[in-house]
Amino acid sequence: MSGFKGGVHPKIQKLTGYKKTEVLPLPPRVVIPLRQHLGAPCDPLVEKGAQVKTGQKIGDSTAPVSAPVHASISGTVVELSPKRLPTGEKVLSVIIDSDGKDEWIKMPALDPEKSSREELLQRVREAGIVGMGGAGFPTHIKLNPPKKVDTLLINGVECEPYITADHRLMLEEGEKVVEGAKIMAKILGVERILIAIEDNKPDAIEHMQKLSEGVGRVVKLKTKYPQGDERHLLKAVLGREVPAGGLPFDVGAVVQNVGTAKAVYDAVKLGIPLVERIVTVTGEVAEPKNLRVRVGTPFTYLLQQCGGTVGKVRKVVAGGPMMGFAVHEDVPVIKTTGCVLVMGEVKEEEEGPCIRCGRCIEACPMSLMPTHLVKLVRAKDFEACLQYNLLSCDECGCCAYVCPSKIPIVHVIREGKKGVRRLRK
Ligand code: SF4
Ligand code: SF4
Repeated sequence: MSGFKGGVHPKIQKLTGYKKTEVLPLPPRVVIPLRQHLGAPCDPLVEKGAQVKTGQKIGDSTAPVSAPVHASISGTVVELSPKRLPTGEKVLSVIIDSDGKDEWIKMPALDPEKSSREELLQRVREAGIVGMGGAGFPTHIKLNPPKKVDTLLINGVECEPYITADHRLMLEEGEKVVEGAKIMAKILGVERILIAIEDNKPDAIEHMQKLSEGVGRVVKLKTKYPQGDERHLLKAVLGREVPAGGLPFDVGAVVQNVGTAKAVYDAVKLGIPLVERIVTVTGEVAEPKNLRVRVGTPFTYLLQQCGGTVGKVRKVVAGGPMMGFAVHEDVPVIKTTGCVLVMGEVKEEEEGPCIRCGRCIEACPMSLMPTHLVKLVRAKDFEACLQYNLLSCDECGCCAYVCPSKIPIVHVIREGKKGVRRLRK
């Protein structure tokens, strides 16, 4: 198999791959966290009682790494208070009650041919665009790397089982993805645009091949998890290895998710900030769906629109089963939420002893020794954890997936990371 070392082949359960995206009716209330990205939180620009319009900027920051946030519906600001994100953190949020009118404020459209690189970059920032594949790094910063790059790699891999939001986006709005990629290539000053798609989405490959003729090239990849991670993707597509602690620009490339490319198109050509995204709602719900959802919409509202949950629910996960976060209360969709997965009751298997089979080592795409790391964390030997590169673990979950003894390796490693951080304080 071409590509990167390690990885696994979880059972693909793309229940919604052939379901056209539906537009979710406007929610009566949205909760918009003032930080939905990696970086500094925004300061609120509105007060309780303010009337806002869809697309209005309601939070911004002067910090170098941050991205503004916008109202996703029109209505009244009824509260500003800390609310839980899908990741579990609490962040100051603006709560807006809908007036049912959905009145918009848009920015003037730009002609990407005539606009300068700086104007385009500023527009991407003003639109509050962040990486929509999951990490949520502000896009205007990624598009302004400190080193020269030669390749823009558009990530249409979507390797987590269950999630189909990017697949549908490519099929339904592929033109906008390609146009967004062209704008990003202009900002970066690169000639080469590659679009990576796994071979379990042949319709998207064919469609994007047609749309990108003369603009870029589609690279078909064998399906393997966690190929969507940008460092593994770069290895698989370009054979370039991002050094430990480095970033893709260190090997001459920038990776952007297909949803991010579409958001750049919206911001530049239509003047629309990032206020909505496609979310796959799947698992134990009456009718799994792909939904176009306003940012800030509560998960419960999404589940209601899919006919509610069925059977006994074990947990609701924001994201996929491999890397998602279990949510313990109602949380809102944020810019990085690609999936809401309802998992049913299954018999919890008991942890057994490590039989030193080495499967976790074979599966680890970061070349770590998960079995050894578990021992070190449990012995609280955090110095040794550092030496064995525990912090390079990207929590992909491959090791736990293959472990026949059901050792909760990722959970233990997460605890280990907390221990290492305490050590460093
Ligand atoms: S140790 Fe970390 S990086 Fe390696 S397989 Fe496990 S979760 Fe993935
Ligand atoms: S896969 Fe599980 S049982 Fe096998 S070596 Fe790793 S931790 Fe031990």
